[in-house]
Amino acid sequence: LKKLSLKGNSKDELYEMGDTFNHMMERLESNFEKQNQFVSDASHELKTPLSIIASYAGLLKRWGKEKPEVREEAVDAILSESERMRSITEQMLTLARDESMKEIKKQTVDLSALAEEASHAFSKTYDREILVKAAEDMEAVTDKDKVKQLLYILLDNALKYSEDKVIIEVQGGKSSFIKVTDFGEGLSKEEQSKIFDRFYRVDKARSRKTGGTGLGLSIAFRLSQVLDGKIKVESKPGEGASFIFYFPG
Ligand code: ADP
Repeated sequence: LKKLSLKGNSKDELYEMGDTFNHMMERLESNFEKQNQFVSDASHELKTPLSIIASYAGLLKRWGKEKPEVREEAVDAILSESERMRSITEQMLTLARDESMKEIKKQTVDLSALAEEASHAFSKTYDREILVKAAEDMEAVTDKDKVKQLLYILLDNALKYSEDKVIIEVQGGKSSFIKVTDFGEGLSKEEQSKIFDRFYRVDKARSRKTGGTGLGLSIAFRLSQVLDGKIKVESKPGEGASFIFYFPG
């Protein structure tokens, strides 16, 4: 401080520099804590499938030759748990490669065509009705791949957490948006405030069965940020949910 003041900095300026420095340190520490939390949550999430795989491999080694039913069950469990590990690591990589996520390539996108394409792709996998409603103006200038990625996450969730039809609504022009509505179990206000957090799942057991990792919506949230838009959820428990992505105005 003495040295700095010798250079002619006034006391107030020094205090101000101190504040800026403290603020910077706080931000660094908080980022560091977040990163640490992410690594620890991720390890925890990967440990569960890994220990299931290990115990089934043990069963297989002990009983695999004599008992075909054990062999069957073990192989199925090992396959599904390794698939789970694959999707967790893939989604973690998407979040970690933030720099490439930030690269935006804008073009004019026909939102209605994008929604139709998504509806087609998903109705094959899920064998469900996916309606597309489009306003007259359907075009938006945006990054097509990122919007598509975001829509696929919302649509996949809508189908996973409901059993009835799903509606995709799109509007282009000045107040463009994409809205995905389902008529499933819905979310309470408290749950709504947590679902965009990494690894958060309302019902871990159910989400495990549907192949959920708790990372989809945090990727959707990050995508909405890099696209400069906003993502919102509207829902009441038992009455389904709507997820809306508003393009920048
Ligand atoms: P997951 O891989 O578990 O689906 P997400 O981050 O996409 O992870 O979602 C987090 C949690 O939010 C889900 O586990 C689920 O509990 C809840 N959720 C997401 N979408 C819906 C929806 N359309 N209806 C009800 N709950 C939902």
